[in-house]
Formats: sequence, C-alpha cells, structure tokens
Amino acid sequence: MELIPRPTAKRAQNELDKDGSKWYCRTCNLQCENHNIFLNHLTTENHRQRKHFSQNFQSSERQNLSEKFVDGFIEILSKFKRKRVPARMVFKAYNLQSNSISLENTQWKTIPEFLYWLKCCKKCQVNETFELIQEFDKETPKIDTIERQKKFTKVKSHSLCPYVRKMLKLDKNKKRNTVTSEKRKLSRDPNEKINFTLSKCSRKSKETPPISEEHIGKEMNKCINSFSSFSDLKIKENSPKSTKRKRNALEDIKMELESERDHLNRTLSWVTLGLQVRISSNFAGKQNIGKFGTVVYCSISEDNYLILLTDSNETVSVRQQDLQTVIPNLGSPVRIVNGGYRGLNAILDSVNKTYLASVHITNGLLSGRVLNNVHLNDICAFTDVTFK
Ligand SMILES: [Zn+2]
Repeated sequence: MELIPRPTAKRAQNELDKDGSKWYCRTCNLQCENHNIFLNHLTTENHRQRKHFSQNFQSSERQNLSEKFVDGFIEILSKFKRKRVPARMVFKAYNLQSNSISLENTQWKTIPEFLYWLKCCKKCQVNETFELIQEFDKETPKIDTIERQKKFTKVKSHSLCPYVRKMLKLDKNKKRNTVTSEKRKLSRDPNEKINFTLSKCSRKSKETPPISEEHIGKEMNKCINSFSSFSDLKIKENSPKSTKRKRNALEDIKMELESERDHLNRTLSWVTLGLQVRISSNFAGKQNIGKFGTVVYCSISEDNYLILLTDSNETVSVRQQDLQTVIPNLGSPVRIVNGGYRGLNAILDSVNKTYLASVHITNGLLSGRVLNNVHLNDICAFTDVTFK
C-alpha cells in the first residue's frame, strides 16, 4: 500500500518551482529561474517598453473595433426610418450580420452603457429607461430637447404677457366702475325669510355621473371649435376695414402647439395597410402607371409595398416614392397619414383653391375636431379591412 503525501504549502511551492511556470513573464515570453531574478526582470527597461507597447496596441485595437461597432449599429438603426424601436431588437438585427463585432471587444461592457454613450454623443435619440431608440432626423439640426422646450416656453410667455396685462387692466377698470356705481346701504326687511337650498344642491351633485376621458376630450374640442369659429367671424367682420389682422396671443399659442405636434409626429414613411393609392411611376411596369390599388403588405425593414390593383385583382411590388395619395369625394372618410394627427380617421369636408383640405376627425379622443389647411399629401382614402 502506497502512502499519499499530505499537501503542504512548502511542498506545493517546490512543485511549482520544479514546474518552472511560476516565474514566467508572459509579456516577454521569458522564464526566470527564481523569485529574485523575476523581480529584477520586471524592473528592466526592456520589459517596461514591451508592456507599454502591448497595452497601447490593445487599446487602439479596441478603439478601432468600437468605431466599427457604432457605424454598423447606426446603419441598422437607419433602416427603421426614424421609428422608435426597442434597442434589443436593433442589437439582434446587428448580431445577425456576418461581419458583426461582439460587444465584449469594444470599449463598452453592457448594452445600457453603450446606449448611454450614444445618448451623450448625440448619435441617436434614447429614452429615459434606455429601452427605446430612434434615429435623429438628418435634415433638421440636432437641437437638444431641453433647449427647444426652453425656447418654446420663452416664446409662449413672451407672447402671452401683453395680452394678460391688457386683460388685467380691463378687469381692474371694470371692478372700479362697478364698485363706484353700486355703493348703497345694506338694509334688509326684518319680516323677510331666508331660504337655503343646500340639500338640493348636494343631491344633484350625487346624481351627476363620473366624467369620462372621452367626455372631456369632446368638451375640449367643442371649446376649440367654437373659439376658431368665433375668430373666423371676427376676421369676416374686420375684413372690409383691414385685410391684415394681427394674431392674438391665444392663436399664437395654438399655432405653436400645432407646429410642435406636427414636428413630433411627421415621419418619412407614410404608407400603411389598407390605404388606397395611385401608382405614379413606371417602377412596376409602364402599363401600371396611374392605376389605383390598395396596400396589402408593408415590409418594415425595406422600402417595399405590395399593392393589390383594383381593376385587375393582381398584386404588384412598389416603393414608397412610386405612390401617391388618393383623395376621395367630399364627405368620404379619409385617413390622416402624416403630420400631427397621423393615424386618425376623418371625413373630408372641403378642398380649397390652393389644394388644402379641411377635415373633421371621427375617431379617438380628438373626435369632432376640425382641421383646416391640411395638405393633400397628408390624407388618403382607405378601406377598413383587416388583412391576414
Ligand atoms: Zn518581461
């Protein structure tokens, strides 16, 4: 029977020394004989230079890969055409590429860290929770959202100031007049009875149903519509005297809000399922120019749409730039395909001489709101059919 020697620290060290792997310098590929020689080697100029060089080489290589990674990532993101998409989805799409670079080989350790870097360098828009990303609009300059908001509130308060001051002055004058005219002694007939009808009031308040969100939306629309019709009336009254009328502060705010809304919702792609469109180029063959059809398939990553032609019942594949919107007869339903109210359905009320339409919205919280001066490219006839 053979005795197994008990492992001790000294024995382990002896074995390592025998093995020779303990005093090995990986940077210089050099094996030293013992501890003292190894320490001596670490202080030599030769070893230091080699170490410095290898570290520099690693960091520059990493930098290079990081740049390539960012370029590839942004390229994938640009395929989504300014749509808000989950960052993980873009990562997956990037990793499917044959020449993709692993995140481990870049300067970032995790996806949130990378997204934070993207946000700081303003490479793309990232939301607060670092989940959704969106490509920057290449045509418009990259303005910081906070800066834009500041500018917006500044304009708002600036344009509101003179109006508010004027109203306050008028109100003060009115109060002064009423106070001076209605000065009289407070007297009461001692036989007169005073009645309180509090109980009725409280019962009434109990009976009123809870106000729904839709109700509030409708009321707001009523207010806005009545305001706009009121201002229209004012224009008509003033028109013989002065053709150019100064806009008041409320209209300024309304216009500012509308343009902000338009800026936020306007995208490059407008084609959606169910739209009735007209083919305007010979991309799908010369025989198909000017033909009408319905969009039956949209591919998200590429600019490709399948159109079912109305007269021949066959499908053709086209790009977005080969399509035009179709404007139906007055009183027909249309879908708003771009701008502030994108995605809502409406009824076409009129089209003026300058080819601007006026519609009223028929669905959603904004149902009933009247939109004037809508560009004909922003509305389109549609068929409300679900495709499988
Ligand atoms: Zn060395």
